[in-house]
Amino acid sequence: MKLKAEQLTKIYGSGESRVTALDKATLEVNNNDFISIMGPSGSGKSTLLHLLSGLDRPTSGKLSYDGQDIYTFSDKKLSLFRRQRIGFIFQQFNLLPVLTARENIIMPLLLDHRQPDEAYLKKLSKLLDIDSRLSHLPSELSGGQQQRTAIARALIAQPDIIFADEPTGNLDSKNGGEVMDMLIDIWRELGKSLVIITHDSRIAGLAERQFVIVDGVLTEVNAK
Ligand code: ADP
Ligand code: MG
Repeated sequence: MKLKAEQLTKIYGSGESRVTALDKATLEVNNNDFISIMGPSGSGKSTLLHLLSGLDRPTSGKLSYDGQDIYTFSDKKLSLFRRQRIGFIFQQFNLLPVLTARENIIMPLLLDHRQPDEAYLKKLSKLLDIDSRLSHLPSELSGGQQQRTAIARALIAQPDIIFADEPTGNLDSKNGGEVMDMLIDIWRELGKSLVIITHDSRIAGLAERQFVIVDGVLTEVNAK
């Protein structure tokens, strides 16, 4: 797996309200990378992650994934690609409230008429310590359990790469710490690439490659 973003730029609005949310971001993600991105609020972090994961398209720039030019895909092909190859973890969990934890987790597969691999689902639920909570609705789960359910959903299709946009931003420090530890365990155990946005310099420091973003400009600050 190799993801290569070249000169990604995103401009919102025009005239007086024109905002350059992302300014020529260039970044490569390889197998097994653990990358952190830090930056103040409004600096373009979510914009970058949405572009890297194909949730959005840039104003200009290119994204290739194993040599495939992603933004040339139709919307339909892009969402299929995303569901099968990319895991995305949101700050707000984004679970569907009327579905149980298990149903939320397997939803990305059902959309493609695929059945879950029960052994893998079991392994994920154990790793994330939600195996006894699978029949519960999100409203019956703690914030930490909800986010761990969302992590299982991001992983169920066995993506190569996981993007996490401030995954602990809605959790207290204890639950946030647990979620981070589990994410890192999963990164180690399952051999995925992990790209994480965080405000927490301790978490950023755990990553092998660290980036900062200020006013839409992305810079690599340290390579271990
Ligand atoms: P961060 O995630 O670092 O807080 P964002 O990527 O969400 O920052 O936003 C970067 C900049 O782009 C901000 O100035 C924000 O107001 C602007 N922005 C983000 N999304 C939109 C949008 N849909 N329309 C207009 N401006 C936007
Ligand atoms: Mg954001």
